[in-house]
Amino acid sequence: MKTLIILGDGMADEPIAELGGQTPLQYARTPHMDRLAAAGVTGRLKTVADGFHPGSEVANMSVLGYDLPTVYEGRGVLEAASMNVDLQPGEIAMRCNLVCVEGDLLKNHSAGHITTGEAEELMAYLDERLGSDRVKFYPGVSYRHLLVLKRGDKHLLCTPPHDIPLQPFAPYLVRAERPEAEETAAFLNELILRSQEILPAHPVNQKRAREGKDMANSIWPWSPGERPAMQTLHELYGIGRGSVISAVDLIRGIGVYAGLKVIEVEGATGLYDTNYEGKAAAALEALRTDDFVYLHVEASDEAGHEGDVQLKVRTIENLDSRIVGPVVEALRTWNEPVAIAVLPDHPTPCAIRTHTAEPVPFLIYKPGMEPDAVTRFDEISVRAGRYPLLEKNQFIKELLR
Ligand SMILES: [Zn+2]
Repeated sequence: MKTLIILGDGMADEPIAELGGQTPLQYARTPHMDRLAAAGVTGRLKTVADGFHPGSEVANMSVLGYDLPTVYEGRGVLEAASMNVDLQPGEIAMRCNLVCVEGDLLKNHSAGHITTGEAEELMAYLDERLGSDRVKFYPGVSYRHLLVLKRGDKHLLCTPPHDIPLQPFAPYLVRAERPEAEETAAFLNELILRSQEILPAHPVNQKRAREGKDMANSIWPWSPGERPAMQTLHELYGIGRGSVISAVDLIRGIGVYAGLKVIEVEGATGLYDTNYEGKAAAALEALRTDDFVYLHVEASDEAGHEGDVQLKVRTIENLDSRIVGPVVEALRTWNEPVAIAVLPDHPTPCAIRTHTAEPVPFLIYKPGMEPDAVTRFDEISVRAGRYPLLEKNQFIKELLR
C-alpha cells in the first residue's frame, strides 16, 4: 500500500473563549478530515522528545519516527541539506542569520525581513571578505543563511536571535559548552564582530538606511551540528521511492536525509496564500510513481504565531477543502490503495503565539480498515481513539503496517 502523510504545521491548539471554548480544529468546518477520522483510527502522538524544544524540525523528525537523541544535530545541518550543501565529516553547519544591531542592542533577528536578493549580495560579500579555507558562507532565503566551518567543536552555547529582540547582544555571543570548544567560540565571535565592521558600508545597507529600513549589519550564527546520523526511510522501514513537498527549508532538509526527493511547487510560499491546489496536485502526481509522500503545509503555524484565531480557523478549513478533500476524492478512483495520515507536528496555540510540546491528534485511514469510534478530527475527540498516546516510532510503524 502507498502512503501519504498530510501535515498541517502548528494546527493543534487549546480551547479558545472566542470560539465558545472550542479549539480551532474543533470549530473549523472540516468535513473531509472528519470523514477520514470516522472511517479510520485516531489517537495522540508525542512529537517532542523529553529534553527537546518543540521546534518544527524536532516534531517533524518525530512524526517520521526518528529517535531525536540519536539524530538531532540542530537546524543548520537540515537547512544545509535543503540547500544541497553536502556536509563532509569534520564540518559543522550553523544557521547564520543576517540581523540588525543598533548600538549594543540586537534590534531584530531578520534585518527587517531583508529580501533574498539583497541578502544574496551581502552573503557573497561576507564570503569574499571573511570566508577562508576554514569558513564558508552560503546564501539562503531572506534573513536565513548558512555558515559551514571546518576544524571546529560543535559543543557551543548559542542563542536564537529571535529570542532576544531589543536586548544587548554581547551577553549572548557564542560560548563554549566544554573547554575544547573555546577556540571555536572565539573564532565565531570574531566573525560576528568583523561582520559588524564591514557590513554597514556595503551599498545594499547604505540603500536600506536611506530608505529608512533596518540594515543587515551583523551575522548571528547559531544551532551548530554535524552531518546527522539519519538512516533513510528505506533503510528504516523498507519504504521505496518517496518525496517531500514543503515550502520550508527545515522540512525539505529532513526529507533529504530521509532519502526523499524534494518536489518544487510553484507558488508554495509557506504562508496563507500558499498554492494549496498545486500542492494537492503535486502529491497526487508523486503518488503515481512513489510509495510515500510527505506533504507539509505551514499556514496554520504562521496564524498561530500571529495569534490570529479567525485566520487559524481559515487555514485549517483551507487544508481540509483544498488539499484533503481533492486528494481523497481523486484517490477514490485509483486501483492502488493509499494509506492517509493527517496530523499537526506540534500545537502553536494562538493564546501564547509559540509552539508547545503537548501531544498532537492524528488520524490514520487505510481503505477497508476497521475504524475506531471517533468521528471527528480534533484534539479532544481523538482522546477516545484507538491510540490514547503513541510515541517514538509507534505512529509511523502503525501507518506503514
Ligand atoms: Zn511546526
